[in-house]
Amino acid sequence: MNKTKGWTGNMLTIDLTNHEVTRQTLAPEWLHTYIGARGFAARLLYDLTGPETDPMGPENVVIVAAGPLTGTLAPASSRCEVVSKSPLTGIYGRADVGGAFGAIMKYAGYDIIMVKGKSEKPVYIWIHDETVEVKDARDLWGLDVWEARKKICSWHETAKPGSKHFLNPVGSMLIGPAGDACVMSGVAHAAGLGGLGAVWGSKNLKGIVARGSHGIEIAEPGRFLEFCRAQWQRYHDDPMYASTRKWGTLGWVGGSDSRSAVSDFMLGQRFEEVEEHAFEPLIEKSRACYGCPIHCDHFLHVKEGKYKGSKGEGVEGFVQIIGMSFKTASAPFLAEWNNLCNRLGLNISSAGTAIIWALALWKEGILTRDDTAGIEVTEGNEDAIMELTRQMAYREDFGDILADFPVKAARRLGRDSDRYAAHTKGQFAWMPGHGIGITLVYTMALNINSRGYDHLMGGMSVMTPNLRAEFGITDELLTRLGRERYDDEDIFSKNAWGYHPKIVQAECEFEHMMVMADMMGTCKFGTQYNQPVTGIHLPAWKDFLSAASGVSFSEDDLRTAAQRVIALERCYNAREGLRRIDDYPFFLRWEKKRGQPHPLYTEDQVPFDRDLYERILDEWYTFRGCDLTTGIPTRSELERCGLQDVAEDLKKRG
Ligand code: SF4
Repeated sequence: MNKTKGWTGNMLTIDLTNHEVTRQTLAPEWLHTYIGARGFAARLLYDLTGPETDPMGPENVVIVAAGPLTGTLAPASSRCEVVSKSPLTGIYGRADVGGAFGAIMKYAGYDIIMVKGKSEKPVYIWIHDETVEVKDARDLWGLDVWEARKKICSWHETAKPGSKHFLNPVGSMLIGPAGDACVMSGVAHAAGLGGLGAVWGSKNLKGIVARGSHGIEIAEPGRFLEFCRAQWQRYHDDPMYASTRKWGTLGWVGGSDSRSAVSDFMLGQRFEEVEEHAFEPLIEKSRACYGCPIHCDHFLHVKEGKYKGSKGEGVEGFVQIIGMSFKTASAPFLAEWNNLCNRLGLNISSAGTAIIWALALWKEGILTRDDTAGIEVTEGNEDAIMELTRQMAYREDFGDILADFPVKAARRLGRDSDRYAAHTKGQFAWMPGHGIGITLVYTMALNINSRGYDHLMGGMSVMTPNLRAEFGITDELLTRLGRERYDDEDIFSKNAWGYHPKIVQAECEFEHMMVMADMMGTCKFGTQYNQPVTGIHLPAWKDFLSAASGVSFSEDDLRTAAQRVIALERCYNAREGLRRIDDYPFFLRWEKKRGQPHPLYTEDQVPFDRDLYERILDEWYTFRGCDLTTGIPTRSELERCGLQDVAEDLKKRG
């Protein structure tokens, strides 16, 4: 039996120093161990880089990896993982991205594309099935993502009706004009955190462009199709997915009581500016990543006013939340600002949070016109926000400092501006809570991640009562699920800030689901993201993967595979010097390091109990097989996960 069905079994390596292209067949055992995407990338980054690697040096690598379900009919399976050592944080850098590129690289015949070295001149990589070329990108260098994509499509004859490539469109991953922020899949999907685009820029790599005309072989097509149909039907029938289909994450802030929903997110801050379904008049049509039935995205068109003519996609609920911190609820402005970020290759939440930092500093008188070349960084000043965003992308004037947000920017500016620059492991945190989530366990989930502050790792209790109402999740349902899964009726709906004996177990099981989504190449919105209701979890993935590959996987195999990846990424960061204190929220780390409370953190902001945080972190370390003092996976845990070589490596390095 061909054991690589579902996967292509191929890895492509391009050395930009000498333009050498090599192809490697991936061993079935390796595929089965690391499963895909995030798993592949974790193993490769651990092996190929380390403390001696300069993130901006030619020795750093770019890894783009797809999962075994990427590009198949499994729902929401458009995703791929983009990984390098992060120039922003100096530790493990990863981002998971949708769009179409993941599927197209599979159709071209590759599970993994790895780029190393550095080209003398600007280049892009063109992949058309077996043809792989490093091509001159001097005409693309300095262009924004939309302009570059348009040019590339004209060069490679894109999917126009009548074209011989109609069914094989071009997929692109491109960086913006300054090459300093994120990598954009298509025109609106950002591989956003960690400043990974800077690694591409440091290699003189404008992008990777692919067309694929192969299919993906499925071992048991009939059974696989049955699973797909059943899952598509579940999405169709579930009210949570009805909301996601209609609103995407805009439903988070456009729900029946959006002010309350957003206030819950922002730790009790009320934003009277929020308008119900503010983007509705701008929505022209739904958009989806490749083959996704959930289609959470929208194409927006501003038809009147100052931003008339603005068109684009990818506005998420976060944009409206950022807008509230900007103190403007103008949907046309936010739609245009969103488009500007996408064009410039800026991650929206990174750029938005940097500007929110500047607004806070301005309000406190820490930042003045002398710093900003005359720009008034006042709340609600749309022109200033647009200009600072542009400056960030081109590293001009004050934008040069903002582009280094949070740690380096605060260091460069000085004046105690670091107290406003909340982060974990160098990755910015949302401003109001200084690294605190809306429950105790979610706070831990935000801060324990390999790439730093991250809302996409855990947080099973993130959904607030208002959001539950929006998604049709009733108290009765949560009570039933709690009883069935944890023999506890309250686990999903109560004990938000108190201790609960099974909350860490539930959190870890939620994390397995999130990590497995990244390994399979499926979207977290297709999982049971936020609350356990209809989405895909380990039992379904076991079925999908077994039917796709023809190899029998158990739920335990997948659990161990997810844990292996978490352990690998933690070991990578341990090698870089990270320890337990780096798993604390910003204000708590501040307290521990400086021996005094964070000046902006107020006790009444949230009922945060430090001893309970230590307790649940201890429990999380125990569940994950980590040493309680250091937070590093123990030798016995690494051996259990088949990572003896990693244990040896850590031992050798002391
Ligand atoms: S749910 Fe949304 S983000 Fe996820 S794959 Fe589908 S369209 Fe893309």
